[in-house]
Amino acid sequence: MEQQEQTGQYSVKALRETLALLEMENKRIKAENNSFKRKISTTQDAIDRIEVYSRARDNLYDSLIAKNARQKNFFSMLLKNTLDITLMLDQNLRLIYCSDVFLTLAGIDNIGFINNRTLHEIFLEYVECYIVRLILDSLDQARKNHKPCLIDCSIDVGRRGNPRTYRIYVVPMMDVKGSFEGTLLLFHDLTEIIQARDQAEQANQAKSVFLAQTSHEIRTPMNVVIGMSELALRADNLPKAMEYVEGIKQAGMNLLTIINDILDFSKIEAGTLEIKPLPYSVSSLLNDVISMIRLRVAEKPIVFLADVDPSVPNTLSGDEARIRQILINLLTNAVKYTETGFIRFSVRSEPAAPAASGGAASSGKIVLVFEVADSGIGIREQDMANLFTRFTRLDMRKNYGVEGTGLGLAITKSLCRAMGGDVSVTSVYGKGSVFTAAIPQPYLSNDPLAVLNDPVSKRVLYYDMEQLRAQSMVHTLERLGAPVKLCGSEEEFLRELVPQKDTAGAGGGGGPPAETENYPFAFAAASLARQAADLIRARSLSTVLVALVNPGEPDTIQNIPVMVMPVSIVMVANILNRQTVVERRKRRGRFIAPDARVLVVDDIQTNLIVAQGLLAIFKVVIDICTSGQEAIKLVQQNQYDIIFMDHMMPGMDGIEATAAIRELAGEQYRTLPVVALTANAISGMREMFLEKGFNDYLSKPIEMAKLNEIMDTWIPAHKKKHKSAEPAKEDEKPAISGDYSVEGVDLAAGRERYGGSYSEVLRAYCRHTPELLEKLRKLAGAGLAGETVGEYIITVHGLKGSSYGICANGAGKQAEELEYAGRSGDIAFIAAHNSRFIADTEAVLAGLRSLLEKLAGQGEAKSRAPAPDPALLAEMKEACKRYKVSLMEEVLHKLESREYESGGELIVWLREQVDNLEYDAIRERLEQ
Ligand code: ADP
Repeated sequence: MEQQEQTGQYSVKALRETLALLEMENKRIKAENNSFKRKISTTQDAIDRIEVYSRARDNLYDSLIAKNARQKNFFSMLLKNTLDITLMLDQNLRLIYCSDVFLTLAGIDNIGFINNRTLHEIFLEYVECYIVRLILDSLDQARKNHKPCLIDCSIDVGRRGNPRTYRIYVVPMMDVKGSFEGTLLLFHDLTEIIQARDQAEQANQAKSVFLAQTSHEIRTPMNVVIGMSELALRADNLPKAMEYVEGIKQAGMNLLTIINDILDFSKIEAGTLEIKPLPYSVSSLLNDVISMIRLRVAEKPIVFLADVDPSVPNTLSGDEARIRQILINLLTNAVKYTETGFIRFSVRSEPAAPAASGGAASSGKIVLVFEVADSGIGIREQDMANLFTRFTRLDMRKNYGVEGTGLGLAITKSLCRAMGGDVSVTSVYGKGSVFTAAIPQPYLSNDPLAVLNDPVSKRVLYYDMEQLRAQSMVHTLERLGAPVKLCGSEEEFLRELVPQKDTAGAGGGGGPPAETENYPFAFAAASLARQAADLIRARSLSTVLVALVNPGEPDTIQNIPVMVMPVSIVMVANILNRQTVVERRKRRGRFIAPDARVLVVDDIQTNLIVAQGLLAIFKVVIDICTSGQEAIKLVQQNQYDIIFMDHMMPGMDGIEATAAIRELAGEQYRTLPVVALTANAISGMREMFLEKGFNDYLSKPIEMAKLNEIMDTWIPAHKKKHKSAEPAKEDEKPAISGDYSVEGVDLAAGRERYGGSYSEVLRAYCRHTPELLEKLRKLAGAGLAGETVGEYIITVHGLKGSSYGICANGAGKQAEELEYAGRSGDIAFIAAHNSRFIADTEAVLAGLRSLLEKLAGQGEAKSRAPAPDPALLAEMKEACKRYKVSLMEEVLHKLESREYESGGELIVWLREQVDNLEYDAIRERLEQ
């Protein structure tokens, strides 16, 4: 038991100990377990992290693959689309890759045809094999130097006969260890770049040549100006000095042409060339152009022909000055580049193309087509492309010595294009050229250029030994519908001139032979005209004889009307309609009408004085007023024979005033002659004024001859007394002598226009102009807007009229430009040019004042002489012989500036004859 007990005690102890051990073990295991748990957790973390990394790596990998694919795609696109040829070769120079452009240029459908073939094989078949040698040499060099090599050469890829210039980059491809893997060949196409460089170089060279040429062109007339001025300063007599001054003027005009060309060119370059559309008359445009070119043609044995379609509408809207410039350029070239043969200037109109939007024909628009054909040197085929290029002069070997800058045609083309047209050319080298300028222009009326009244009755007998000219004249007459008989010889012409007895017996009835009908008109060259005139006089024929003279020939033949060749169709129509100035002037002698009363309405005082001055010689009673309202009042108070009514006036204008007069109660106001005065002189205006109730129209500056016609037409016959019936005109003032000059004023023209009244007119201008200038200064100074623009236009319009009226043409032109700017809303132009205009006009005023003071100092009194100076009378006779009208006026003014103890009546008689254009009578009397 005890043992049992002992055994039991031992066991319990042992159990306790075991338990303790177990507990310790348990603790240790727990601790270990915890440690394991921690380790597991750390490991899990690590696993998680690894997973994240792995996912990230996968993503990165995917994106790298995508990027790589994109890059690959990009590179293959680059190679595919690049314009440069790319070839890749392996170590053995066999093709691995080539860009599409190579396949296209070489004409290879599929890369399979050339893949793996050697460079040599490919180039032998599709390119040129000498290039392979160059490439291999360069490759050797590139490998040696470890850098790409360049070759510049011309290659015809595809062998189409169209070589292009390439820069070839030969690039050896090495791996990281530096061993040779293959070759990259890049062919960069330089053709366009080289062409552009060549063109730029050419243009640069052309500019240098142009500069040299221009300086030469400027220097030549400059030398003339300086040399001739020197000679003029040294000249001991006036005629000699005048000759030199003529030369200086000509050189100055040449200079101006060159400078204008350069200016126009720079405007075109700067894109500031402006086209200013205004109404204009085609007939006067053609007249100007033909007259100008005629003079140049006269220097060469060339026949100048004008072939104008009479149905071209006469009144168009456009930039007349620019069209004139185009025509002068083309015609001057024709003269410059033609030595013999002909120049034909043709004008016609065509319907304008249908408007782009509507499809209907462009309403109110035509295309004016000008053609300049010549039989000159022509243009080589290879030069045609450069013809309109600025600064380019062609065929310089042939054209050596012909003046020019190579700008004319470039400017012509730009101008045509700026107006919506174009210029083109056809030419046969050595035979001649035809330049055609076609310019669309709106027309303002349908009135054609020329119409013949009753054309069938205008039978013309004609002879001209120059065949081309004869054909052209016959064509012109046929176009007008006038029957023409072209004679084959002078004898035939003279025979035909006299009506023949029709011996064939017109009626066949055995009665007296009928006489063939006479020709109402006969045209003949100057050499034949005198003989024909004698025959006409001797046989008392009613035929109107017209002498045809060449440019440069004297343009006056006794009393025979003259047409200078080439004749304009308008002139021919006028002659056949018997409306020539010569005819009219001859019919209308001067008269006086002391019982007639005339009203002049104009807002500009100077214009009133001008009109008074001009009307003074008719000795009519003259009333003046400055507004439409006043005119209406005066018309009701007095009985007028004519009213001269200005068109543009502030407030009520001339058209409104005339309408108001026509509305007044009383039949006399319906028929009262009202003549429009306007400074906007263009054809077509006459019709407009007639429609508005005017009876006639007179353009400013007023021409004496035109005024005479109007007075003759409208002053009632019973009030007219012919001048010769009147005693001497003791009250007329002497004219300003030719010894004076005022900068900016053409005193000679003024003298011719106004005679003794000129100083009065100038005085009025000096009196009234400052006030108007002040008005312009104020209006422009306050900033033009709204109503003040209208006021500005009217004021400057008035100044235009009065400045042109006194022959201050520069100021007139400036005012005209300002008026135009006002009308087209170009306020900036006015702001920039108004002060200059005012200053220039003030300078003119200062010059005029000093002239008038000098005249006042002289008292304008006539000194007395025993008799008219025989030397002056001899000069007068010579002037009449040569029909030098301005010289006659000048001499007559000198004669009139004195009073004579005897022979005064001769001077009065001379004045009458000059006024009545009776030059032959003067010559005959002075010869006696
Ligand atoms: P240029 O001032 O030299 O006359 P243009 O521009 O008017 O300049 O003409 C350019 C070139 O075109 C001339 O130099 C001339 O060689 C050629 N050309 C122009 N008009 C004619 C023509 N009617 N006949 C022959 N060649 C012409």
